Amino acid sequence: MMQLFIPLNFLGFVYREIRGALANIERMFGLLDRKPLIEDKENAKKLAIGAGELTFEDVSFSYDSRQILTSISFSILPGQKVAIVGDSGAGKSTIVKLLFRFYDVDSGSISLDGVNIDSLTQHALRQSIAIVPQDTVLFNDSLLENIRYGRPGASDDDVAEVIKMAHLAHFVSSLPEGWDTKVGERGLKLSGGEKQRVAIARAILKGSPLLVFDEATSSLDSHSEQAILTALKEVAKGHTSLVIAHRLSTVVDADQIIVLSQGQIVETGDHSSLLKNNGLYSKLWTIQNQK
Ligand code: ATP
Repeated sequence: MMQLFIPLNFLGFVYREIRGALANIERMFGLLDRKPLIEDKENAKKLAIGAGELTFEDVSFSYDSRQILTSISFSILPGQKVAIVGDSGAGKSTIVKLLFRFYDVDSGSISLDGVNIDSLTQHALRQSIAIVPQDTVLFNDSLLENIRYGRPGASDDDVAEVIKMAHLAHFVSSLPEGWDTKVGERGLKLSGGEKQRVAIARAILKGSPLLVFDEATSSLDSHSEQAILTALKEVAKGHTSLVIAHRLSTVVDADQIIVLSQGQIVETGDHSSLLKNNGLYSKLWTIQNQK
């Protein structure tokens, strides 16, 4: 029996390791084939992040020699929701990649709670930020375990709580085996909107002070979109949030909206002040509401 137990136990370990590696943040950004370019500094701090205040100060960045972001400065105070909008290719996702330190900035700085992220360990940095990616990675395991992945070791009660907060309770109760239902390989049995709510549930469970929501570009039906918006509002209550938005309906309630064009901030303000400005935001708003 013991002879069988040891290899099986080892296989279980290998499975968990692979599962962890697959869902890492690089995969979420489609960067799995890329070795992390950034290494921790020798004296990098493990520092636990506090309230989640985020500051970009005069950040410029280029891929190879192509300038992508120029002099980006903004701050998100603890508990605030800030949205970034702009045309496709404006540099929105690049801002998130810099925040996760997939690349270092060319100039300027990014700080969390006043600490430059380049002096933190990658582990500390990633523990401080929960991300709801555009395309959520799901494992061929139960819905319960897929959500618990946000904080391995979380109790069933904790998972039940975040299911409610992410507005998934109704969906879960409609499944034949409830949260024990297996979600298919790559989550094929879930709709885009349900997958994003699973990611929201994971993010709440992770309990990081800073939440990044990378809105799915594919169109969702208005019911799914509404469910996601309501879930997001719930999460935003206890978090500092940064939303990369494609649909402006997601950002109407943001404390601050940053409008990017060709890697530069061209406008900032809340929804109503930006509409009054009659600039790019107001143009995008008119276009989206004509559809
Ligand atoms: P979308 O709304 O379409 O997702 P975005 O505003 O998020 O666009 P980014 O993904 O940040 O835009 O891309 C900004 C620019 O950087 C684009 O022109 C893109 O082609 C380029 N780019 C993105 N990733 C890389 C990369 N790894 N190497 C070189 N160029 C890149």
